[in-house]
Amino acid sequence: EEKTPLNFLERIIEDDLANNRVPDNTIVTRFPPEPNGYLHIGHIKSICLNFGLAEKYKGRCHLRLDDTNPEKEDIEYSDSIKRDIRWLGFDWGKYEYHASDYYPQLYEIAVRLIKEGKAFVDSLSFAEMKEYRGTLTEGGKNSPYRDRSVEENLRLFEEMHQGKHPEGSLVLRAKIDMSSPNINLRDPVLYRIKFASHPRTGDTWCIYPMYDFTHPISDAIEGITHSICTLEFEDHRPAYDWATAIDDIEHAPHQYEFARLNINYLVMSKRRLLNLVKLGIVDGWDDPRMPTISGIRRRGYSPESMKDFVSRIGVAKVESMVDYSLLEFCVREDLNKRAERLMVVLDPLKLVIDNYPEGKVEYFEAVNNPEDPNSATHTIPFSRELYIEREDFMEVPAKGYHRLYIGNEIRLKYTYYVTANSVVKDEQGNIVEVHCTYDPESKGGTTPDNRKVKGTSHWVSASEGVTIETRLYDKLFMTEYPGEASGNYLDDLNPDSLKIVTDAKAEPEILNAKVGDYLQFIRNGYFCKDNHSEGLVFNRTVTLKDSWAK
Ligand code: ATP
Ligand code: MG
Ligand code: MG
Repeated sequence: EEKTPLNFLERIIEDDLANNRVPDNTIVTRFPPEPNGYLHIGHIKSICLNFGLAEKYKGRCHLRLDDTNPEKEDIEYSDSIKRDIRWLGFDWGKYEYHASDYYPQLYEIAVRLIKEGKAFVDSLSFAEMKEYRGTLTEGGKNSPYRDRSVEENLRLFEEMHQGKHPEGSLVLRAKIDMSSPNINLRDPVLYRIKFASHPRTGDTWCIYPMYDFTHPISDAIEGITHSICTLEFEDHRPAYDWATAIDDIEHAPHQYEFARLNINYLVMSKRRLLNLVKLGIVDGWDDPRMPTISGIRRRGYSPESMKDFVSRIGVAKVESMVDYSLLEFCVREDLNKRAERLMVVLDPLKLVIDNYPEGKVEYFEAVNNPEDPNSATHTIPFSRELYIEREDFMEVPAKGYHRLYIGNEIRLKYTYYVTANSVVKDEQGNIVEVHCTYDPESKGGTTPDNRKVKGTSHWVSASEGVTIETRLYDKLFMTEYPGEASGNYLDDLNPDSLKIVTDAKAEPEILNAKVGDYLQFIRNGYFCKDNHSEGLVFNRTVTLKDSWAK
């Protein structure tokens, strides 16, 4: 079996297991999204990492909805998160948790911290608190309210809890060290007042715990062994360790940081993605141009290709930028193996075979996927009038052009050789029909005299084919680092990120395509049936790297 080197987290885990540092030898990880938006490709890395480690070491991975920001959160988001993780093929089983479930325990811990003199209620305003906090180079100073008595702190915290104080007037803070070089240890805020209704706890609470208090304690309560997060939390680790030490737990969880996934040309912060939705720049969170999991699913990316993508980029401790082309490469690699090939003409031009009997329909057999030795086949109807791509005919052929022009012979894929004879134009001079003759002896792709033809075109029977809508997507942003040069990512939007073609012509096999099927429209790219639309609407997932005939 092929041995891939262990990543740094696997090495830590194997070392912990080997040295009996893991309770019951069971690795417990968690994926902790905040339900304030849809998951994106960056999250896929974290999902694959956390669920993947649990799978590899036969432990478990908890899904924890980190719902402590009542104003921004919504059940719609929680539902989408679960759908998206399942689509990737991961399952948390019964291990579904909500940080909000721990509000009562967190409150108890806060009260105990006050009693032990380790927390106090502060009346400084946010601006004052910021000033007192100091800077990276300058230590902070103690709040004048730091020495409130335990009794006063208990009374004020209880009043905060009962809604007797307005938002912003009081906070509960830990008493750690205002001179710490780590700003996150300078008496961090544990609780703030928020008169907001929470999607799960409703109006039960008007004080909400902060991330640096909630997260480590949630990890401890759930018995997480390895709490994996992105690098920007590295300097929160001392606060994490402070919080997990409060309860004198035998096996405190540990936080480890890895580099987040960045991909050029994409915007992946939920705040910005939400903005694109709100401004109507895209058609919702699952617009196929969005880098959300719902968006790429609707676009036709396969979960397998995304897992391949994250395994190729690996897990590191240094930030880097991954090239968008690697993402598309992985999609093509996977779809090439699984997509059914169909003939669809995106820009139809009528081709009439003058010597083919009127009314006759012949059926040709095509292998669904030549990459798959066990592939099924389907039949394609052929008739006198066909459609070919407009670009596959030139009245005045350019140098090196091998497709159809007057006097030139090409192969119509799967069927016969045809030679173009004449064109019909409309009043504006546009070509509306090309007339040709076919060689009945060329059936099957060769002739008795072994004539060679250089060009091959795909085609669709005009009488038997069906009209479909195709949506051709391009990058949503034109610049490699949206907003970097312009100052505003919205200035870098690609005006041509969506092209809709309403009169594409497809072979009738398309009628069997279901949502979730992977298709290749020969020469035109990989496509899938849109999961929102009624009728025959197909999204282009990605173009083909190479066309099958030059
Ligand atoms: P964003 O900054 O994009 O809004 P977030 O970090 O606020 O995302 P969370 O819901 O808090 O989103 O993320 C859940 C988990 O996914 C966290 O552990 C976070 O570190 C991880 N994660 C988020 N973005 C990325 C990314 N680009 N690469 C890897 N992991 C990520
Ligand atoms: Mg977050
Ligand atoms: Mg964030």
